[in-house]
Amino acid sequence: MTKTLFQPLSGNEMPRFGGPATFMRLPACTLEDQLDVGFVGVPLDIGTSNRPGARLAPRQIRDESRMLRPYNMATRAAPFDSLRIADLGDVAINTFNMEKSVAIIEAHYDRILAAGTIPLSMGGDHTIALPILRAMRRKHGPVGLVHVDAHADINDTMFGEKIAHGTPFRRAVEEGLLDCHRVVQIGLRGTGYEADDFDWPRQQGFRVVQAEECWNRSLVGLMEEVRAQVAGGPIYVSFDIDGIDPAYAPGTGTVEIAGLTVPQALEIIRGLKGLPIVGGDLVEVSPPYDPTGNTALLGANLLYEMLCVLPGVVSR
Ligand code: MN
Ligand code: MN
Repeated sequence: MTKTLFQPLSGNEMPRFGGPATFMRLPACTLEDQLDVGFVGVPLDIGTSNRPGARLAPRQIRDESRMLRPYNMATRAAPFDSLRIADLGDVAINTFNMEKSVAIIEAHYDRILAAGTIPLSMGGDHTIALPILRAMRRKHGPVGLVHVDAHADINDTMFGEKIAHGTPFRRAVEEGLLDCHRVVQIGLRGTGYEADDFDWPRQQGFRVVQAEECWNRSLVGLMEEVRAQVAGGPIYVSFDIDGIDPAYAPGTGTVEIAGLTVPQALEIIRGLKGLPIVGGDLVEVSPPYDPTGNTALLGANLLYEMLCVLPGVVSR
């Protein structure tokens, strides 16, 4: 069977401010459509500990993705030339119940992965990484992880709760979801409770690259080391928008100063080309704190860049 390759609706066919707000103005599809890659929204923010609002991000990121054109002028990637890509809509989480929401997300991603589709997810807060990684473990075994964030998200509990947006990678380690020596965290910074906040992940075998190591330099060299470390098995990419400096990404819930720049974020994602990536997410955009839309615009572009480095993407 020859699969139709979908294209983003061109700005010459319909004005960019018109039409339904799917990601990149792609068709709205279901799992029956046998996609190679599906954009998925997870409108959950009941795991946030400070400013809320990430539940509104999937819609806002889709809206701000309207300017994205199919061809990557910098990397020459042409994802829509070879892969069947569309918008799979949102996960119907239960906004009144975290436990049920996590179960709903897990089951949803089990179905996406069973269909052979690579999910690129729009959070939602970072809690969503846990149920996604559980589904990834069932499909692929323990995965390597490239995690960009201001925070390690390895708290044992938050306000007494085991599941929240600051705990997913602690749970992931405990549950054997990660191949810990193939995990890298980039952009960590700010104030903490104890040195253990960044030492615990190192003790698990993670490489932790604090933001200070990234200041005022290109990350191309770092990414060569990261590639060597995470190679050798399936890799998941989890990108918390607060890894980027609040000058560029103010619309988020737990803001830390002196973060990564936007070109550094592109160097990180573009540096993953050629690796066996099995999924990715972009989390923690909070539209109520993003009056210009710039944070959601950045999130949309970072998801597009993730798309461009997936296995099977051709260049021209
Ligand atoms: Mn996070
Ligand atoms: Mn964070």
